[in-house]
Amino acid sequence: MAWVYEKASNRYKSTDTGRYLSQEAAKGLRDRWAVAQREKATGLASRLASGDLTLKGWEQQARALTKETHLAQALLGRGGRNMMTAADWGRVGNTLRAQYGFLREFANEIAGGTLTEAQIAGRLGMYTDASRQSYEKARAASWGITLPAHPGDGNTRCLTRCACWWDLQKGPDGVTATWRLGASDHCEDCLENAAQWSPYSGGARVRIAGLSLPPLGWVMSGNGAHG
Ligand SMILES: [Zn+2]
Repeated sequence: MAWVYEKASNRYKSTDTGRYLSQEAAKGLRDRWAVAQREKATGLASRLASGDLTLKGWEQQARALTKETHLAQALLGRGGRNMMTAADWGRVGNTLRAQYGFLREFANEIAGGTLTEAQIAGRLGMYTDASRQSYEKARAASWGITLPAHPGDGNTRCLTRCACWWDLQKGPDGVTATWRLGASDHCEDCLENAAQWSPYSGGARVRIAGLSLPPLGWVMSGNGAHG
């Protein structure tokens, strides 16, 4: 079955049946990909433990895995490679640079010899889990909106385990963005986000970029700020 991304509705559409992929189904793909990539992270830890990979080799593989995982999520969220703009590549590039920095420190800790194979596997799994943020950020960009935080970006106590998602709906005067809880693992911060951003309003509804000015209070507080 072939799918195309329909820019006007920000949804994937089957070219065979004409049916749209619901945002819940697309989010399901996000989560399935994160889970599949986590298994690869576990595989890398056992290859390091068995001596099949040197620490340097492990770090290279861990970087490649992180890159592949985040890029695929960004493409899924944005609507495919053809939809990617320079800003989109730059966004995922910035996220990856930060992740590579964390990986460097992680590799140093492994060199210190204090981490078990299970700990290494679990911790690299956080990098693949964190890829949900790349899906969510790309999706917000696809909808032309700026949101205060993204599931998996580390701003919640559950850190990268966060399986929450932004429910985006197009209305007559803008996009309504609601933080929805994931199926499991709600930390206090997620519950707070869900209560606070139901829907999110930076003083008003999130406007489609270019159609109207964002509310002044929102601009003054900085687009990246909470609340
Ligand atoms: Zn969450």
